Amino acid sequence: MAQTASQAAQENQAESFRQQQAFQVAWLLLQIIGLWGLLDLRNVISSWPQVRTAIAAIIAEQSQVMGQLGNAYYLQARAAAGILALPPALSVPAAPSPQLIKATLDSTGPYSLLARIKQGRDVPEAAQVTGAIVGAAATRLIQNGARTAVLQAVQQDSAAVAWYRVTAADPCGFCAMLASRGPVFRTAQSAGFKAHSRCRCSAAACFSKQDAKALRDNDLYRQWKQVTRGYGGQDAIRVWRRYWDAKHPEAPGVMQPVA
Ligand SMILES: [Zn+2]
Repeated sequence: MAQTASQAAQENQAESFRQQQAFQVAWLLLQIIGLWGLLDLRNVISSWPQVRTAIAAIIAEQSQVMGQLGNAYYLQARAAAGILALPPALSVPAAPSPQLIKATLDSTGPYSLLARIKQGRDVPEAAQVTGAIVGAAATRLIQNGARTAVLQAVQQDSAAVAWYRVTAADPCGFCAMLASRGPVFRTAQSAGFKAHSRCRCSAAACFSKQDAKALRDNDLYRQWKQVTRGYGGQDAIRVWRRYWDAKHPEAPGVMQPVA
């Protein structure tokens, strides 16, 4: 079925919203890794709190910036869908709690670094590896601001029918599977977005049953149907992962979802 002008406009908005997030995340990652680099590798534990405070401030602030981007995208997509009714007042999702930020940074940062060093890894190399992991965990929390904004808006707005996952060009098998399912309806019980560390997926909104149907008719879904024919539950997921990883050897590999 040919795409309507409105569907094409909404798709473009969803894609540019995803790219905006990717751009933000790329430079935030550089900033966070730069701050990590200020850690004194001879005094990891005593120099960590200052570094953590600086990274935590970026997470708290930038998750809100992402939330604003999410709301702005949502209103544009809504207009492109031809919804004339006034939108509900959208609030920016709350930043991750200070406790969550601290726990995330503590668990991925200094203690993992010390464990790697204890395993006999070269100190600068261990620091670099750990910094990349800290950055990935931090940017997941930041980007969740954008994802949550869209899910929250869909939930609040009676004109919205569903949200759906928009992946980067080369998603991991887990995200490809979720994206293949298309729209997640407002009424459906859902555990949320399920972004893993280094997940580049974005959330987008859908405003009609007809658009939802069109989104469901996607190439990933056809692949999923074909690959998992005759399999169910965990077996279906297993054959899908095997298929995906073989087809995309360069893809980030098996990812563990984080709710
Ligand atoms: Zn993803």
